Amino acid sequence: ARPVVAIVGRPNVGKSTIFNRLIGDRLAIVEDKPGVTRDRIYGNAEWNGKQFSVIDTGGIEIDGEDMILKSIRIQAELAIEEADVIVFMCDAKAGLTQSDEEVAQILFRSGKPVLLAINKVDNMKRAEDIYEFYSLGFGDPIGISGSHGTGIGDLLDEVVDAL
Ligand code: GDP
Ligand code: MG
Repeated sequence: ARPVVAIVGRPNVGKSTIFNRLIGDRLAIVEDKPGVTRDRIYGNAEWNGKQFSVIDTGGIEIDGEDMILKSIRIQAELAIEEADVIVFMCDAKAGLTQSDEEVAQILFRSGKPVLLAINKVDNMKRAEDIYEFYSLGFGDPIGISGSHGTGIGDLLDEVVDAL
């Protein structure tokens, strides 16, 4: 089977935008398992000759303000279960938030390789905004922009190295 890369992060950081860039038109058949799995989106991707599956965990969003944290936890736990490599995504425009720290705590316990991608680094002025994310403890943050496509090649180099 193909190795699995899961994109995890709180809502609105750009997970689906990046997912769509990674898979292009290679959307896989969505697996129809009962329960929460139903909403996950799987796709196939390839980089440097390596093929892998990608999961956009943000498909598992539960309605209602008070459910956001619960849904983030469920997503992170499902990703940990299934993924060989986790891309933990945060948002440079919003900065570091409490929800990011919640996700970080769950991912820490996973023992799976985690790459920290900071999205919405749309211009050079924003490049320095990634440094506060060092405090999450997942090493060097990788600045990317889903809008412009910048940094995604660097992220994919690290993803396939970790597979
Ligand atoms: P998700 O909830 O994590 O899946 O996030 P989405 O992919 O739905 O994106 C949330 C919002 O952020 C949308 O309005 C996107 O257009 C926007 N967005 C995504 N990537 C970028 C980016 O690189 N820069 C900026 N400025 N906005 C982005
Ligand atoms: Mg989404």
